[in-house]
Amino acid sequence: MSHASSGPVPAGSHPLPSYLQADNLGPWGNYLQQVDRVIPHLGSLARWAETLKRPKRVLIVDVPIHMDDGTVAHFEGYRVQHNVSRGPGKGGVRFHQDVTLSEVMALSAWMSVKNAAVNVPYGGAKGGIRVDPKKLSRGELERMTRRYTSEIGIIIGPNKDIPAPDVNTNDQIMAWMMDTYSMNTGSTSTGVVTGKPVDLGGSLGRREATGRGVYTVGVEAAKHIGLDIATSRIAVQGFGNVGGVAGKLFAETGARVVAVQDHGGTIYREAGLDVPALLRHVEANGSVAGFAEAEVITNDKFWDVDCDILIPAALEQQITEANAGRIKARMIIEGANGPTTPAADDILHDRNILVLPDVIANAGGVTVSYFEWVQDFSSFFWDEEEINKRLVKIMKDAFAGVWHVAQDQKVSLRTATFIVACKRILHTRELRGLYP
Ligand code: GLU
Repeated sequence: MSHASSGPVPAGSHPLPSYLQADNLGPWGNYLQQVDRVIPHLGSLARWAETLKRPKRVLIVDVPIHMDDGTVAHFEGYRVQHNVSRGPGKGGVRFHQDVTLSEVMALSAWMSVKNAAVNVPYGGAKGGIRVDPKKLSRGELERMTRRYTSEIGIIIGPNKDIPAPDVNTNDQIMAWMMDTYSMNTGSTSTGVVTGKPVDLGGSLGRREATGRGVYTVGVEAAKHIGLDIATSRIAVQGFGNVGGVAGKLFAETGARVVAVQDHGGTIYREAGLDVPALLRHVEANGSVAGFAEAEVITNDKFWDVDCDILIPAALEQQITEANAGRIKARMIIEGANGPTTPAADDILHDRNILVLPDVIANAGGVTVSYFEWVQDFSSFFWDEEEINKRLVKIMKDAFAGVWHVAQDQKVSLRTATFIVACKRILHTRELRGLYP
């Protein structure tokens, strides 16, 4: 049973429903533990904290499609709106064989915190389909995406909940989602999703935005701890939109990307990998496996790599009690959502390893999603320089605020980010009041 969710239940309130009870092993359990750590810092707003432990709306949908071989397949889809106090729900859609309700609930909650942390006017939401999209043909992928969009169409919309890309989804999938929603509502509605192709109301700089944000906060944090980026060694887990772009930006400043791990394996090069060549290899082959100018090491060895900066940019729960004691980095920048468990957080803290938490470090993506949504509403598009300038300002300002709170209240950067964000969420909750 849950430790995290078994704290005092306010008088008159029912205990958390069973599907919200965490066993502390899954992502939702990790999130509840993170919330419990922030509650003592919320002052009078703590009376609303229970809100954070209960998603506003959970939708589970059946997604049946015709497969190319004539059979009918059913996939399980989700859309969770965790909180909409500060604005419409916002968050990506993930296609992965391990997607579960617990995972999507946690991801939606982290979106609430992230959006509030960078102060974009959104609540938090997330969606997903439990499927390995690599096993689908292009036609099957399109039919699944369209049927899923129709099924969640009752709760999404430009002013209700705005999906975006996440693991294994991209601009083409957003184009199909936008088209399906628009066909169903009878008007072209570009603002219903972000991360679209640029020719279809997408924003310049969106694809690179998460990695650029990771890089930006990394550079800021490095100044505080006296780490010279230009001579640093970097290890990256996940080399897609987030890890690949962040790795490229760090390498351009002179840093050596010495190890990269993805679903195909782990590669290492003491002198530093040729990042542009590796990006071309991943583009052509789908993973880092087979990259010639590197040695192959075991996936487990990745955690022992001598590095200054570790960037987990893949999936949740990668840094755990099992490997947190082995990590050599001085700083971890969480490009992924939820890569570090609370138990691992404590170990890293004791070892004086600075963790830049997901809810601020990877907020660059949703920040440019916000710019895209604004541009779609006004049908006026900004150039890339403008977008990157605004992105960097938001990331730097938000990080400086969180750094200050962490120093002032002697808490980790994760708890500091939760303090800033949860106060914003619960303040609007209080202002809006309960209806009826
Ligand atoms: N999926 C991204 C994230 O986890 C972006 C979400 C968005 O742009 O709405 O932050």
